[in-house]
Amino acid sequence: FPSRLPNVGTTIFTVMSALAAEHKAVNLGQGFPDFACDPALVDAVTRAMQTGHNQYPPMVGVPALREAVASKIETLHARRYCPNSEITITAGATQAILTAILACVQPGDEVIVLEPCYDSYVPNIELAGGVVVRVPLTPGSFRPDFARISAAITPRTRLIIANTPHNPSATVWTAEDMRALEELLAPTGILLISDEVYEHMVFDGAEHQSAARFPGLADRAFIVSSFGKTFHVTGWKIGTVAAPAPLTAEFRKVHQFNVFTVNTPMQYGLADYLGNPAPYLQLPAFYQAKRDLFRQGLEGSRLRLLPSTGSYFQCVDISAVSDLGEADFCQWLTREIGVAAIPLSAFYGDGFDQRVVRFCFAKKDETLREALTRLRRL
Ligand code: PMP
Ligand code: GLN
Repeated sequence: FPSRLPNVGTTIFTVMSALAAEHKAVNLGQGFPDFACDPALVDAVTRAMQTGHNQYPPMVGVPALREAVASKIETLHARRYCPNSEITITAGATQAILTAILACVQPGDEVIVLEPCYDSYVPNIELAGGVVVRVPLTPGSFRPDFARISAAITPRTRLIIANTPHNPSATVWTAEDMRALEELLAPTGILLISDEVYEHMVFDGAEHQSAARFPGLADRAFIVSSFGKTFHVTGWKIGTVAAPAPLTAEFRKVHQFNVFTVNTPMQYGLADYLGNPAPYLQLPAFYQAKRDLFRQGLEGSRLRLLPSTGSYFQCVDISAVSDLGEADFCQWLTREIGVAAIPLSAFYGDGFDQRVVRFCFAKKDETLREALTRLRRL
């Protein structure tokens, strides 16, 4: 029968993790921590199971967790979302993004993505029958180019998807960037998905500029986050969407027939754990130290370091090391040097190859040191 996604294969993250396992390579490809989460979080979830929180929770998420999320956003970004009508608990950011797209994109609607972009966006838009409009971030710096975004807007534009801190480029949007987007969208009815899964990984004293801080954005935005990233539990697949009540109402219509709801004990455990802000407030320093360890280890090598100001990724230019294209280089690096990475071309619809690959530094220091020992052979 005809495929709904004829051009889609297995994601690069799965492919590279399998190759890394096959060759016993240090896996700096797929983005996930190789260290344990806080035992207090596991205890909180265990307590929730032991006290009988094991049946369906409310469709939109348990009230205590929605309240904890609303309070956190209010404290950090000074916008109060109503826990009942504006916060929904999702099965990770991936489900949140798909659900938001299905909720608002009609067949033929145009959706702007800024490339390079996370690999689920484009297939999600296609599943909704939307038309993907690709706008490149500025080559080299990966900054948003508002003139190009503006030129891509038409009367059919329904949605734009933005992502800060950014996967894969590790750049962070400034308040000026957010204001520029706010101004650009002001005269339009265009909706926004603001993918903020790396919200707590911003370095060198910079601040995460959530869309929640900019009324002209927040009023039209699905703001997506992921506890998997924030609390080192990517396998739990649990996240949130904050959106104004009318958007949330449409989101929930799709959500209830998509997953209906999300696992109960994790929700109670996270609600409990969120009472203490220290774990997420310490995250910038925690990951900045890992970034610095990794960068210092590569200084003096022929891999040219690009800036990494947020997320848990470090991109490098490989052109002084190899004549291979990005994808072939990543295969070679995994097999021959024993370190897995992700080609940036995987984040472009046309496979654009700029000789840059992405490493994930969400790893134990000893893992990073082992990877550095191997990479210094280059
Ligand atoms: N958006 C971005 C930019 C991501 O990097 C990821 C995780 N790789 C996701 C969304 C999906 O997050 P989750 O694991 O919570 O589904
Ligand atoms: N978001 C992670 C990354 O960019 C991987 C998620 C996945 O494997 N789908 O590496």
